[in-house]
Amino acid sequence: MRFWLSSLQRLFPWMANLKAIPDRLGGRILLFVGCTFLVGWLLLSVLVSQIHEHLIMSQNERSVLLVTRSVASGLRTIMLAGDAEIAENYLRNLQEVNGMLDFRILRIDGSEAFRTNETIRFVNNRLGGERFSLHKKEIKNQILPSDSPILRQMLVTNREVPIYEQDPTNQTPMLTFIAPIPSQDECRGCHGQGDAIRGVIKLTMSLAKARQEIEQARWWIYGLGILIAGMVMLIIHLVVRRSAVAPLEHMTKILSENPKHDLERFIPLHGCAEFRQMATAFNQLTTQLRDAWNDLSGERDKLTTIVLSAREGIVVTNRHEEIVLVNPAAERLLGRTSMQIRNDGFLHLFHDPVHMNALRADHAQELPGLVWFNERMLQIHAASIEDSSGHMIGAAAMIRDVTREKALEDELRKLSHTDGLTGLHNRRRFDAALLEEYDRAKRYGLILGILLLDVDHFKRFNDSHGHDQGDRVLKGIAEVMRSHFRSVDYVCRLGGEEFCVIMPSTGASGVIRSAERLRSSVEQMVIDDLHVTVSIGVAIFPEAGQNESAALIKAADQALYTAKKRGRNQICYFTPELSDSPARS
Ligand code: GH3
Ligand code: MG
Ligand code: MG
Repeated sequence: MRFWLSSLQRLFPWMANLKAIPDRLGGRILLFVGCTFLVGWLLLSVLVSQIHEHLIMSQNERSVLLVTRSVASGLRTIMLAGDAEIAENYLRNLQEVNGMLDFRILRIDGSEAFRTNETIRFVNNRLGGERFSLHKKEIKNQILPSDSPILRQMLVTNREVPIYEQDPTNQTPMLTFIAPIPSQDECRGCHGQGDAIRGVIKLTMSLAKARQEIEQARWWIYGLGILIAGMVMLIIHLVVRRSAVAPLEHMTKILSENPKHDLERFIPLHGCAEFRQMATAFNQLTTQLRDAWNDLSGERDKLTTIVLSAREGIVVTNRHEEIVLVNPAAERLLGRTSMQIRNDGFLHLFHDPVHMNALRADHAQELPGLVWFNERMLQIHAASIEDSSGHMIGAAAMIRDVTREKALEDELRKLSHTDGLTGLHNRRRFDAALLEEYDRAKRYGLILGILLLDVDHFKRFNDSHGHDQGDRVLKGIAEVMRSHFRSVDYVCRLGGEEFCVIMPSTGASGVIRSAERLRSSVEQMVIDDLHVTVSIGVAIFPEAGQNESAALIKAADQALYTAKKRGRNQICYFTPELSDSPARS
């Protein structure tokens, strides 16, 4: 089938366009209306031809019936004349009539009359003598069986019975009438009282002519139908083309001639009212679209400016994890070109795909987004982007250089723990460190030494040499202390001219030795030709302060008080006996 179709299309290239017909508006209307009309016309034609056939056949039947009755009447008249030979001649002449296929006179038992001498003998006997001469040759011809249902029907009803049949030799349609010849008073003169029906006429006419006329009429109807269908389809085609297809093609042409979809172009109003309305609606839509597009373009420009000029690096991907946007800040912070960043991929922004993936999936922002990269501290906010239905349509990363902020933060933290004058740990740091070290020592059974230092007669020193000179001395003492202790020791200025050192895991002998060395160093320290001395109180956990850290400080303070009381410029180690001494503060 396909082969034949393609062969036909090669022969007639225009046939390829036929496939497109159902796809076109005009083609569809034409096909639909044409097929509907054709089916309707076909049904109507069949109906009309059936009615026509019925009418012709009825007319034909009536005509043959009339002929049959006329023949019966003529025969009866001839028979009354009393001459059987004339009757036989009459029959022979009738058989010659055009269209007459067969004509016979039968007896009521179905045998052909005028072929045997049976009736002649009966009449001659009845009338006496040789009234009618006998046939020299008798032929017994049984045309219908004596029990033929048709014959029975005719005898019972005393009416003509039509039979439609076909000639078995040449299939010619035929109409046969079996008609009664009723017995009349005149007949009884020869035949005597007898049956009510004297004989039977069997007359067969050809229906070939009538059938031929019917066929001709049918072809006329069909031919006319096809002609009218063709004309109707042509008219429909012209109307549809003019009122629907042409305006649509015109609009399509205008739209397709605008490949850049210029929203400033409008469709001219053309064609029927519906198409003009459609074009108007389309133009309104275009106007709204243009306005929305202009607004969007403005917003896009703003966004582009913000993204391009942002100090934060911005990297955005599409749903396929392909990077679609890298702003200049991102290039600068990552130290790579936009193309290199795109090629490396979103997860390799910092050469740590696992961390990057975790950051992107961390919706609660619980992971620290800080990365040390290219000698910079970068803060990353990564997140997947979802549409209104919750489907992931991409991911975005915002990168901020927080190197300076971090440094400032560290500086601030340091300052908050540092004494401004001496650079040692301040009171806040001291409190925290003492708490920490005390807890550790208590939990793990460690020893913890503490050393409390106070400058002797410093009020007097200030009064004599001035406050600034006093500050310089305090700085000098701090310098000596800094150089004196281990890095694990906490050297703090508690305030005024009081200092404290926390010495983890250091026992009494170690702390006393350090205190003595410090006292001696300060004594030997010369600042602007001036000298100061210090007194030091020492306490060791767990000997002192077994319950709380404040008790340890108090013990050191009591020892310091004792050292002052004993004459200053000395150290005093806390012993339980000193616990009755007043603390200084
Ligand atoms: P003592 O031997 O009994 O400790 O005598 P003192 O004079 O040192 O006693 P006191 O603790 O009463 O005096 C502390 C003095 O320290 C008072 C104040 O003038 C001085 N001072 C406190 N803070 C500073 C400071 O930051 N700089 C200077 N220059 N002096 C300070
Ligand atoms: Mg003091
Ligand atoms: Mg003092």
